[in-house]
Amino acid sequence: TVRVRIAPSPTGNLHIGTARTAVFNWLFARHHGGKFILRIEDTDEMRSRPEYTQNILDGLSWLGLNWDEGPLFQSKRLDLYRQAIQTLLDKGFAYRCYTSEGELEEMREAQKARKEAPRYDNRHRNLTPEQQTAYEAEGRRPVIRFKIDDDREIAWNDLVRGRVSWKASDLGGDMVIARASDNPIGQPLYNLAVVVDDIDMQITHVIRGEDHIANTAKQILLYEALGTTVPEFAHTPLILNQTGQKLSKRDGVTSIFDFKKMGYTAPALVNYMTLLGWTAPDSTKEIFTLEEAAKEFSFERVNKAGAKFDWDKLNWLNSQYLHKMPVDELLEQLIPYWQEAGYEFDPVSDRPWLEQLTSLLAASLVRLQDAVEMSRIFFSQTVAYSEEALTQLQQEGSDTAFSGILNALENHQSLSVEVAQDIIKQVTKEKNLKKGLVMRSLRAALTGELHGPDLMESWAILNQRGLDKLRLNQA
Ligand code: GLU
Repeated sequence: TVRVRIAPSPTGNLHIGTARTAVFNWLFARHHGGKFILRIEDTDEMRSRPEYTQNILDGLSWLGLNWDEGPLFQSKRLDLYRQAIQTLLDKGFAYRCYTSEGELEEMREAQKARKEAPRYDNRHRNLTPEQQTAYEAEGRRPVIRFKIDDDREIAWNDLVRGRVSWKASDLGGDMVIARASDNPIGQPLYNLAVVVDDIDMQITHVIRGEDHIANTAKQILLYEALGTTVPEFAHTPLILNQTGQKLSKRDGVTSIFDFKKMGYTAPALVNYMTLLGWTAPDSTKEIFTLEEAAKEFSFERVNKAGAKFDWDKLNWLNSQYLHKMPVDELLEQLIPYWQEAGYEFDPVSDRPWLEQLTSLLAASLVRLQDAVEMSRIFFSQTVAYSEEALTQLQQEGSDTAFSGILNALENHQSLSVEVAQDIIKQVTKEKNLKKGLVMRSLRAALTGELHGPDLMESWAILNQRGLDKLRLNQA
């Protein structure tokens, strides 16, 4: 059965690149009825932090990317890695290297002078036991290096990229698989730990970003040395910014919860990430749940080229999800944004009013956060008038219309949209005013703008808070 994993390093918050890799792993696992496993790669003690782990778990959960096994923590599995390193040492695939920092530096300088690419020249590959003892006596602590045969070519059939091949001579010489430490087998490093885990967890398909291609070449050599079958690999295209470079922190938001804060919903964001590099068999179909996408997902339809991050597309998708969301659900999502903005309301006793407001906003909402600005005039006593609105309020007839409306309001306890329409009809007729003028001036007085959502609905909502009379009196 298919077993895939997502293996984030908790050295930062869950970002869009890792989340998208998680989406593809999840889709592939579900498509094949396989398992999706979560592994936390926290061997870098200096940079790993528990709050980042928490952020990653929360982020995946929020996105609906439920995992079947894990989280496993690499920091708890060091013994397993050390066993593998011992095996590699015993079998002569690895050796202790005592080359000092200074010697490495000198070596790199010399290579630079000769215009060669920096690489380890494998100088300690065949130390005699006497030489080793001498270095130990000097107090040098060794790293463990894995032998790389420069004549090898490493090739695999990538599920996204087809045949990929690497010359072993491009891998920088014998690679360090354990840093020097107090432990005689050292502190196991990334490439080794990943391979040991992927073997131990019986991972069948390694699906990760294309920035890992060189690691894959190294890791294949480790699989071979450890005597196990090599999994399938799929390297997914990078996410690019507007200028075609890898999307990074410098592009502003990359952390998943930044998107949440801005008011993207999880289903829309996940839907968008699915489209970052994948197209459905019916390419006109762009809106789907994870489950729907999983039915059709395959790597045949994943692009090799980088995927440009397209805010317009994400916004469009998000608005689609918001528009079809039931009002009570949308309201639940908006409440925290309004609370955060300091708006005063009671989520329980004001519920009918809030639902009415939510319906009004729903059609023009792109991101939940936008509701804060869009609804300011309904929560706030005051209104900021645009230039155009002020000009409109000075139009002849505005005052007459307002006093007519205020008069008419005296006779009504509450204001429905129908009543509001009747009042407008009555006032225009009685005062002999143009309906267009009355409507524009009313909108200017109530909202401070000349454009916006449905005016009669807006008015009815303002009326329940007495804000219409207040503003008409002031205008
Ligand atoms: N810890 C690696 C990363 O966060 C994962 C690499 C892998 O999936 O093998 O990029």
